[in-house]
Amino acid sequence: MLFGMADPIKKALVKSGYRVREYATIGELIPGMAYLVRRLLENTSNESFLRSKFAENVSTEILLKDPAENLTPTNSLEPKQPGRYYNEPLIDWVNAPARQQMKTALQKMKKQFGETVRPVINGKEISSKNKISRENPAHTSETVGHVELASIEDADNAIEAAKKAHPEWSRKSASERAQILLNLADIFRRERYSLMALQVYEVGKNWSEADGDVCEAIDFLTYYAADILRLEKGERVSYASGEDSHYEYRSRGVALVIAPWNFPLAILTGQVAASIVTGNTCVMKPAEQSSLIAARLMKYLTEAGCPKGVVNFIPGLGEEVGRHLVAHKDISTISFTGSMNVGLEITKECAKVQPGQHQIKRAIIEMGGKNAIIIDSDADLDEAVMGVLYSAFGFQGQKCSACSRVIVLEENYDRFLGRLIEAAKSLIVRDPADPHSFIGPVVDQEAYQRIRNTIETSKSSARLVFETEVPEGGYFVSPTIFADVNPDSELAQEEIFGPVLAVIKVRDLDEALKVANGTKYALTGGLFSRSPANIKRVREEYECGNLYINRGITGAMVGRHPFGGYKMSGLGSKTGGKEYLLHYLDPRVVTENTVRRGFAPPEV
Ligand code: NAD
Repeated sequence: MLFGMADPIKKALVKSGYRVREYATIGELIPGMAYLVRRLLENTSNESFLRSKFAENVSTEILLKDPAENLTPTNSLEPKQPGRYYNEPLIDWVNAPARQQMKTALQKMKKQFGETVRPVINGKEISSKNKISRENPAHTSETVGHVELASIEDADNAIEAAKKAHPEWSRKSASERAQILLNLADIFRRERYSLMALQVYEVGKNWSEADGDVCEAIDFLTYYAADILRLEKGERVSYASGEDSHYEYRSRGVALVIAPWNFPLAILTGQVAASIVTGNTCVMKPAEQSSLIAARLMKYLTEAGCPKGVVNFIPGLGEEVGRHLVAHKDISTISFTGSMNVGLEITKECAKVQPGQHQIKRAIIEMGGKNAIIIDSDADLDEAVMGVLYSAFGFQGQKCSACSRVIVLEENYDRFLGRLIEAAKSLIVRDPADPHSFIGPVVDQEAYQRIRNTIETSKSSARLVFETEVPEGGYFVSPTIFADVNPDSELAQEEIFGPVLAVIKVRDLDEALKVANGTKYALTGGLFSRSPANIKRVREEYECGNLYINRGITGAMVGRHPFGGYKMSGLGSKTGGKEYLLHYLDPRVVTENTVRRGFAPPEV
């Protein structure tokens, strides 16, 4: 036993006839201090037996009780508290039946390859001659399905249908509208594995990423369904005697939803749910790359009880049908998530008033990022390496929140980089239908070419420190790490939207913050540090919409981490948060003079 500690226990052991050997640490001072600190942390922790016994006088019965007795549940087994929001639990792949269900769903989905999806206007499927095929990004020889694209005329008809459906839909009570979202959430739960399987094949998500996306879609539905009930009540704002003044909200009209492919169900569902639960009707234009999943959303909306015309499905090309919809005089609100260039174009177009337009368009714009994680000199590198790897390479770096720059204080630079490279070697690049796959293919040929070109041109300006073999036959790009990257170079400034990470060395925290804030974006950011003073400073000075401390920077959860950026990353509208639905509503105040001048008989 350690010399100088727990002497009564030693005595008790000797008295019981045991031989006790005492030891003392010897050696160099600094490692010795580290040992001492570890002992102090151990012995003073809330769970420590020694602390309980010697400092808190906890009784022997409690100290020796079966640890499994009266365990406090810390997971979803905890009884739900009324009024609190709960996220949909992710699948635990440790359970064999879950793995089996996913395998079966993938096999079944493969048998359905080749289906064709079509635009839906006013509840009716419309045929079109203009058709695109969606190939499996992991095996480009396989065609997952076909999409008949909406024409300009279809787009006009969809707006007309949404406009006609608006008066009746907007008069429904908030709870009636919310119920449709809750019905849809139940359908998603029922179809969970099949929706995930389609994501694996259509956009190349691995099992866990696809699960995350479906759960997030369910979360948006349940969160907005609850939140509209809060907003529907409005609020009394005047307590002056003789006056009743009430603050309340109205829907705006026809909302246009334009979504990206990278969270093919979650983002689209979130935008559509917010549009309709607030009493607007909707024209939904998904990304070309994820129209098959979007068609499922349309199908299940109908099954959930959404009346015809309330949501109209317009798969089509962004530059053609998307642009036309944005410019249309009868669109009141544009809900866009996608790249900065398109977002800025929409913002500009949105400001132009068209002949016959009766309402100023409002744009809700969520765009890209060039997100960085700062690694402080005292960061826990075990955590930092894992946090950076997952944030940079999860779903092939194709998340708007992905880490594409890691800014390391020079004291830790070589150590961090060495460990990052070693850890990157364990990443498995494989077909996402295989449960071992951590990294799958990028979404399409265009993305593949763009990312490969960026890697090639960056080789002359930065030091390539990691690349690995990738499978053939699909759009696989190796996770790629560049070191000694110049913070002003294109590699460190422009969004790549692929598995490419730039490691930047800085002198101190001043420089780290300058580099972190030195791009046009402000979406997500992170810090690994053990210094309370540095955490406080970064919290105040790092410009980003979602800052994560001592954890990865992706995987925002509805309600827990309302999500969205500012600067050139967006307008700060925060999806999955308390203010989000307000963007789809117009506020009004109704003030009534309640002092009556005479007797008003009650109406019969
Ligand atoms: P994108 O901008 O290419 O496309 C987004 C949508 O806009 C698609 O539906 C597309 O068809 C449509 N579109 C394209 N040109 C258009 C035009 N001229 N007019 C109207 N619509 C048009 O983006 P993407 O490749 O689908 O998605 C990746 C981008 O999205 C990345 O930049 C990523 O950072 C960003 N993103 C941001 C968030 C966020 O919450 N901030 C979330 C996910 C993705």
